[in-house]
Amino acid sequence: MKNIQIAIDGPAGAGKSTVAKIAAEKLQYTYIDTGAMYRALTLKALRTETNLDAEMAITELLRQTTIELVPSEQGQRVLLDGEDVSEEIRFPNISSNVSKVAAHAAMREIMVDRQHEMASRGGVVMDGRDIGTAVLPQAELKVFMSATVEERARRRFEDNNNRGIASSIEKLQEEIALRDKLDSEREASPLVQAEDAIYLDTTSLTIDEAANAILKLANERMA
Ligand code: C5P
Repeated sequence: MKNIQIAIDGPAGAGKSTVAKIAAEKLQYTYIDTGAMYRALTLKALRTETNLDAEMAITELLRQTTIELVPSEQGQRVLLDGEDVSEEIRFPNISSNVSKVAAHAAMREIMVDRQHEMASRGGVVMDGRDIGTAVLPQAELKVFMSATVEERARRRFEDNNNRGIASSIEKLQEEIALRDKLDSEREASPLVQAEDAIYLDTTSLTIDEAANAILKLANERMA
């Protein structure tokens, strides 16, 4: 069986990272959560009071920042300049600001270079918004995962509950819809389904069903 690259894109809360993690584990591939990288940069920008709309400043900030995705027993940890920020990057103030930061083209070039570097070490499952279109256009398998905005808000709500973060479904639905709009309408690598991606509607699928659908496609590609 050959090692392949698997690109999973889609809007916020579609279940991409949960499913990508399971698929990567089963295949013994590296899992790369690119959203976590943009979230980590957003956290640093907020901490340093960098203007989120300033492309040059955000790009320079990334140049001076290390972001590592490190496997551990409690799942993948996100290190920002060596500090574990895995929980903090999921807080609502990061979710509501990350699309602003992620819109800057010059910053994205550096981020994509780093993602290429991470993906160059064998079999990989990478999830994000522009993986099939910009980061891994040669990926053997591209999946575009989505679900209704109501279902995605419900999942985020449960997720937050499990993490001990208080939230309201209505607020989450608004936040998700706004983030989708900003991510889809930006000029630099917008959220869009790659022409050769397979559309997977997960509205009525369990996590295992969605992961199995991807594993089945991966096995076909690896054969
Ligand atoms: O996947 P997650 O919801 O954690 O991503 C957070 C944000 O990071 C997205 O809403 C988007 O603005 C940005 N992002 C991106 N490109 C990616 C992954 C995430 O612009 N490949």
